Amino acid sequence: MIVVMKQGATPDQVQHMVRQVESLGLKAHVIVGAERTVIAAVGVKRDGNKESLESGPGVAEVVPISAPYKVASREVKPERTVVTAGSLSVGGNQIGVIAGPCSVETEKQILACAVAVREAGATALRGGAFKPRTSPYSFQGLKEDGLKMLAAARDATGLAIVTEVVASEDVDLVAKYAEVLQIGARNMQNYRLLEAVGRTERAVLLKRGPSATVEELLLAAEYILDAGNPNVMLCERGVRTFEAHTRFTLPLATVPYLHQKTHLPVVVDPSHGTGHAYLVPDMCTASVAAGADGLIIEVHPDPENALSDGYQTLNFEQFKQVMRRCRKVAEALDKTL
Ligand code: PEP
Ligand code: MN
Repeated sequence: MIVVMKQGATPDQVQHMVRQVESLGLKAHVIVGAERTVIAAVGVKRDGNKESLESGPGVAEVVPISAPYKVASREVKPERTVVTAGSLSVGGNQIGVIAGPCSVETEKQILACAVAVREAGATALRGGAFKPRTSPYSFQGLKEDGLKMLAAARDATGLAIVTEVVASEDVDLVAKYAEVLQIGARNMQNYRLLEAVGRTERAVLLKRGPSATVEELLLAAEYILDAGNPNVMLCERGVRTFEAHTRFTLPLATVPYLHQKTHLPVVVDPSHGTGHAYLVPDMCTASVAAGADGLIIEVHPDPENALSDGYQTLNFEQFKQVMRRCRKVAEALDKTL
């Protein structure tokens, strides 16, 4: 249910209604919008709850939330959420660009990437230190040493760090070094991990599972929001289909669809979405044209010799070109990049 407060309702009235919601055994999420304050009351529905809240002081109306996800829904918050984490801002008029290698390999490699992508206009640096690899014999990442290299690259360039956390027990460690915690596609439905990042103060980039529906993605986001963390970015990174010409199938209609259903910003990953470096530039411009709030792109000084995902990774010059082209598309939509 949404408890919609009257315009001009006092903070005391809002607090009173929060206590009323909690006394019914429900969780209260206060969302202060430009026009009105609402309290999303989530939990198990019981007869009589709606009526008992309707008569509260300062309450305009109490309406049910029809979507299965509640706090993520636009019914609760019509205004778009802007997620800001250091140099990265996603969801406003500026398109955020997160760029960097699939994996952190050496201090020299990550620093060179950071300098090059910032120079080209990226607003955050990506790089995996904990890697979720399909094979246990593939490179698993440098772990804390990799996090330290990312932090050094941030100190040198000012770019916010986006890096993956693969297990609940690593959340505090990764949160010590990074501005944004990435939940990888394979972990989208690891609910204990979602709750753990939901309890941190760090922004979260939640990637869609390759076989998850958009509704399942939104319900996964709901776990993070429900745990108290409002700074969630959704990421379309492609889904598994019968099609084999690309690594995954990248459905860009997800972007405007999500904008209809949720206030959370939407980032697109054309690198994993296509799995081929030669397809990445056009899918970057297409993502911006489809209304993406952000891009996450794999970039490496020497893609051919990258320790992971080199075949879908751009070199510095290719990334520069992509940024130039995306900027033109962004301008056509009255956005900046
Ligand atoms: C990645 O970003 O390097 C990654 C592993 O992505 P995904 O979880 O989308 O496969
Ligand atoms: Mn990768």
